[in-house]
Amino acid sequence: MLQKYEPVIGLEIHAELMTQSKMFCGCRVVDSVEAEPNTAVCPVCLGMPGMLPVVNRRAVDFALLVALALNCEVQSNNIFARKNYFYPDLAKGYQISQYEFPIGLRGYLDITLSDGTIKRIGIRRVHMEEDTGKLTHLSDGSLVDFNRSGVALLEIVSDPDIRSGEEARAYAMRIRQILRYLRVNTGDMEKGVLRIEPNISIRPRGAEAFGTRVELKNLNSFRALADGTDFELDRQAALLDSGGRVIQETRGWHDARRETFSQRSKEEAEDYRYFTDPDLPPLYIDEAWIESARIALPELPQAKEARYRDEFGLSDYEASVLAEDRAVAEWFDAAVAGKGAGASPKTLANWILNDLFRLMNERGRSIDTLPVTPAALVALLGQVEQGTINQTTAREVLAEMMDSGRDPSSIIESRGLAQISDEAALTSIIDTIIAGNPGPVANYLGGKENLLGWFVGQVMRETKGRANPAVVNELLRTRLERERM
Ligand SMILES: [Zn+2]
Repeated sequence: MLQKYEPVIGLEIHAELMTQSKMFCGCRVVDSVEAEPNTAVCPVCLGMPGMLPVVNRRAVDFALLVALALNCEVQSNNIFARKNYFYPDLAKGYQISQYEFPIGLRGYLDITLSDGTIKRIGIRRVHMEEDTGKLTHLSDGSLVDFNRSGVALLEIVSDPDIRSGEEARAYAMRIRQILRYLRVNTGDMEKGVLRIEPNISIRPRGAEAFGTRVELKNLNSFRALADGTDFELDRQAALLDSGGRVIQETRGWHDARRETFSQRSKEEAEDYRYFTDPDLPPLYIDEAWIESARIALPELPQAKEARYRDEFGLSDYEASVLAEDRAVAEWFDAAVAGKGAGASPKTLANWILNDLFRLMNERGRSIDTLPVTPAALVALLGQVEQGTINQTTAREVLAEMMDSGRDPSSIIESRGLAQISDEAALTSIIDTIIAGNPGPVANYLGGKENLLGWFVGQVMRETKGRANPAVVNELLRTRLERERM
């Protein structure tokens, strides 16, 4: 059905900024789910007449980071405007936002699709505003909590470059990952600190004019975003095919029924009667301020992935898993930077992705609470490379490092785990075994050379697996040959 039509999708993403205080007053930012309602409020964020807002500098720093990370042209001249509308969770009767003069314009974000192709999505604008309060509807009335009122909010608006639910999901996941990398948002969609709203329309293939768009709300997961978008595309196509027309409206996503439903007709920008907020002077962001933000910008996930692939030879999968979370990526980077002889980035990546992640899962640890430092893992792998311990023992030692936080050499020493490579010690063990097993010796000398493995096994049993297998093999072969004479 959709073959006839081209989907046209743009995403609006609202992200609360993780500042200590609100956007225009000194109120604390509290957890909107756990905090007692209406405990973090003041006359400014309650919209009392005559109160004066003051811009939160930290929120501007954060917005600047996001604008730069999304390749936007940062605007020096920032003006706050009033977006007028009435709603019970908006005490002032307007929301302070940015309209004609936002902080960032004309950026872009590259996303990777499931078939590996890269697609560039335009970022139309990034602007600062304030969040509203929160309504809770009960059977006999509604409750309002203004704790969230005035919390710094960033809106990121894409160009209508997205063509499917899958692309919408890939774009939104990348944005969330970048916001988390910048440590400006936790990405917790369940708590509503990150809200994603696609504008969805279809048009006949080849047509220039956009179709009528529908805005989708209540999407609290990436799956809901992808499924809701695809559902809406199909609904609109069916509507047009049956001779109907799409109504411009806001629709909600019903997660259990997996379908969208009509909520209200959508306002146009002119309905809001935007005008410059007379209480807030223009905010000028000079070159020095922009430059300091540019310096504070960390290496972003896409750059990390590319570096891991191109410089370290990791697979796409390994690179994306290691780069997924900034703390994990920085742990890996620190290990690579301190790598001693033998611990190549590829080896380190394997140990982190397999053994370290498994141990973290089993023990319910996150990378931030890990008792094992990157340097300690490098030291452990150095012991393997030098032949002090083998891979199997190294796994045991790593598990103990996770529990005790001790360094690998002290664990190897105190538990006597070091491999026995000392020829004199091994020779005396081998002599005893050969003297005690005349039958197998005779069979070996009679041509059953695969019995060598059995002898190696005996030495391993005698040394509790600590004998250096390469040394044992060599010594056994020579010693058995000597029996011929
Ligand atoms: Zn306040």
